Amino acid sequence: GNDNITKIADSNLTMAIPPQNPAISRANATFYVLCRNTDLYSLLETIQNYEDRFNRQFHYDWVFLNDVEFTQEFIKLVTNAVSGDAKFGLIPQEHWSIPSTVDVDLMHQYMDLMINDPDGSVPYADSVSYRHMCRFESGFFYRHELLLDYKYYWRVEPGVKLYCDISNDVFKEMEEGDYKYGFSLSTIEYPKTIPSLFKYFKHYLFETKQDHLLLNDTNYSEFIYDESKDDYNMCHFWTNFELGNLDFLRSVEYNVIFEYLDSTNGFYYERWGDAPVRSLILSVLLRKGQIKRFSEIGYKHAPYTQCPISESVRLQNRCSCDPGEDFTNKWYSCSWYFDNVSLPKIHRL
Ligand code: GDP
Ligand code: MN
Repeated sequence: GNDNITKIADSNLTMAIPPQNPAISRANATFYVLCRNTDLYSLLETIQNYEDRFNRQFHYDWVFLNDVEFTQEFIKLVTNAVSGDAKFGLIPQEHWSIPSTVDVDLMHQYMDLMINDPDGSVPYADSVSYRHMCRFESGFFYRHELLLDYKYYWRVEPGVKLYCDISNDVFKEMEEGDYKYGFSLSTIEYPKTIPSLFKYFKHYLFETKQDHLLLNDTNYSEFIYDESKDDYNMCHFWTNFELGNLDFLRSVEYNVIFEYLDSTNGFYYERWGDAPVRSLILSVLLRKGQIKRFSEIGYKHAPYTQCPISESVRLQNRCSCDPGEDFTNKWYSCSWYFDNVSLPKIHRL
């Protein structure tokens, strides 16, 4: 008796609500991972975590890029781990090599100076492949053929971790809010890796008659520009977690600035990170409201963690992080500062 009533009620319900087609309601988006074959097992751990905390509800695709061919073992295990399509791409050699205009001997001299710095070497001072990586992430990944089909990406690195359930579709959130960029952690750069980055950046703006963009209340210039020192304040979005609009990264405005910076060969003579490069460009080009800080996402890329302070958020999203480790309000985090400069001047602390 009762069973039948339940069945009838259920079938009425099914008829009343049209079936949801996830392909229609999803955004045109993918995860994006640059990695090596040797990253396989830390990557599998991270994929399992991102699938459990978010993607098992949405089945977004994953794109993996490498400067050498992925092994069959890598492709088999990774394809098996994801709930969307997995795509594996090779980076064209011209996007992962020292440009012909770089004087390689000079580059090695600068590298030696950085390695033997009397105040201690900076991370990756001695690595050419790290320099390729930073240049690639700054100006090439979004042009790879496997990413051309997509409008939004979420960058992931092997070894990173999500601490909370993400029950809403953050890609849709990017789309509906028309955000061009999203981040979780932000911090300050080692000045020794970018001695002339800001000088060139400013020079470019001056030469193209756009230096007003550095003193502008409608963009994010205050996030990166210290007017009192007429210099970069070292704040940058931490690019190991970033969501973004690929069409924006593929725009002429973004790429002319990247091309100019690249033409100075600072990625090789110095050791420019993709994070400060991306952050400088975004901060002058985007209008307030176009960058989203994902403050409720629990996230870790060693050594920093973002953990929601609010207990109700942590309970609702089953977070497993310690709020005592939250990085947001540390002096070397720029996230609290981002929140402040995102407001119109009259509303600030
Ligand atoms: P860090 O976060 O700045 O310490 O740099 P990582 O070592 O995490 O590198 C950033 C991203 O680039 C990670 O996703 C790495 O897997 C990837 N990566 C770094 N170097 C290489 C490389 O030589 N080849 C490939 N294919 N990926 C790399
Ligand atoms: Mn990393």
